[in-house]
Amino acid sequence: MHIDTDIAVVGAGSGGIGAALAAARAGARVLLVERASTIGGTAVRAGVSTWEPVAGATGIPFEIFLALRERPDAVACYSYGRHICMPRPGEAPFPGGEHVIDRSVGYLDTLQRHGMRSLREDTAWARATLHGVVFEPDAYAQVAAEMLRAAGAEVRTGVAVVGAEARDERVERIRLSDGSEVRARAFIDCTGDGALCAAVDCETMAGRDSRERFGEPHATEQPSPATNAATLIYRVMPADEERVEPLPEGVPAECWWRERFPSVSAVQAPRGGYIMNMLPTAEWREFADLGDGLREECRRRVLAHWHNVQREFPEFRRYRLAWIAPEVGLREERRVVGEYVLTERDLLAGLSGQGHADIIAIADHAMDLHGEGGGCRELAEPYGVPFRCLLPAGMRNVLVASRASSFSAIAASSCRLARTMMQLGQAAGTAAAMALEGGIDARDVPADALREALRRQRVQLEWPLSDELREWLADQEAVSRAARTDTRY
Ligand SMILES: Cc1cc2nc3c(=O)[nH]c(=O)nc-3n(C[C@H](O)[C@H](O)[C@H](O)COP(=O)(O)OP(=O)(O)OC[C@H]3O[C@@H](n4cnc5c(N)ncnc54)[C@H](O)[C@@H]3O)c2cc1C
Repeated sequence: MHIDTDIAVVGAGSGGIGAALAAARAGARVLLVERASTIGGTAVRAGVSTWEPVAGATGIPFEIFLALRERPDAVACYSYGRHICMPRPGEAPFPGGEHVIDRSVGYLDTLQRHGMRSLREDTAWARATLHGVVFEPDAYAQVAAEMLRAAGAEVRTGVAVVGAEARDERVERIRLSDGSEVRARAFIDCTGDGALCAAVDCETMAGRDSRERFGEPHATEQPSPATNAATLIYRVMPADEERVEPLPEGVPAECWWRERFPSVSAVQAPRGGYIMNMLPTAEWREFADLGDGLREECRRRVLAHWHNVQREFPEFRRYRLAWIAPEVGLREERRVVGEYVLTERDLLAGLSGQGHADIIAIADHAMDLHGEGGGCRELAEPYGVPFRCLLPAGMRNVLVASRASSFSAIAASSCRLARTMMQLGQAAGTAAAMALEGGIDARDVPADALREALRRQRVQLEWPLSDELREWLADQEAVSRAARTDTRY
């Protein structure tokens, strides 16, 4: 089968949903291709249904939040509860950080992170400032699918891109796993590991970069294949009786992880229970050895981890393991070298010092590496992502909008948040549609026109938020708050 479309988006994670929605709303014919059986990517298949605090997420992520709010118990905002770095007198100990649903905070409160302070140093600041969003993955996938349908985008799930052909710096067609071929005027690679770009031999990078490569102060002297660690998310639900769930045969109770089990980020979920994000389940060193067995080994570690949580923290004996994500969450894979590579120097300079004229999204998560060689460094202010990070070097009609965009490993450790990826998708989809309308290649879209188009979509490109945008967001949120249907919290 041969399919002709205007814009083909590959990968329906946060980036792909943002890209397909933006392009289809601008009037382009859009085909969104996803290899898994459902859309949503890491946020759904790996169960990462938490949006940590971040600046800039005022466009499509905000719309998704409002649409989720129309469904009962689909979404909520959270604040810090108990935390091993911020103990309060008389509190029961917790196996890591607890995030509790907090009806007193709203979406606007989640649009902020900046600050050099750590949780330990300034607990009052952290409790007052850091709030996030938590949603139910199935509701998120349904809402995104409805929005894509309303925008007129065609979505095909259960089909992977398995090859592509390029000529004269343009991708001409992609081949799908069901044998069909897709021709399009522009392609947006949202695969999370740059699979489409790699298929046409774009330059890619993986692992940690040497200090010399990008002049990053905190990079190691030598490059290394190390990546951010992987985590298998699980969910626990309340139960009536106290019980430590027995370990299945063959799963040892001992810790596989250094001297003690990893701590957990436990987020109260809108429909009850906690989403358990055990910080590393597997190290990069293990990925190659475990290969296709990675998820099974992570599943065994989840069982051992949960057993330990129940043994050590009695309150969890009133919970049961209810779900383990079907996919292991990979924070970092291969990345594509673009016309510009975002580096630690951008993160340290911040929006006020970067001096780029083509910023199409802002972000501000800490530099945050999990596992070996890991650590967390906060930033002084939000920073911007230039449009050139979405343009694979040397290609004319392809954009890359996902955690595989053109970031150094250190920049990726900060930039990868789901809402930031959605913003990159929104910018890529908008740019591809503008290129189509103007009869030009995506890479030739003028940055100032793209930024204006994004501003019209209420995307925040300045820091702090303008009064006008803040008021508009607050008004929208007030209406949605009044109509909300959550019943549990
Ligand atoms: C354990 C963990 C915890 C995290 N915690 C948070 C958090 O608390 N808050 C936050 O904001 N972010 C968090 N993140 C980061 C964030 O979730 C991800 O970076 C983000 O969701 C990535 O979105 P994406 O669109 O770039 O990629 P993905 O969501 O991975 O989407 C890529 C999609 O492409 C598809 N695909 C791949 N190859 C092909 C192909 N050849 N053909 C067709 N389709 C293909 C995949 O199936 C997938 O659906 C976390 C990540 C992990 C792993």
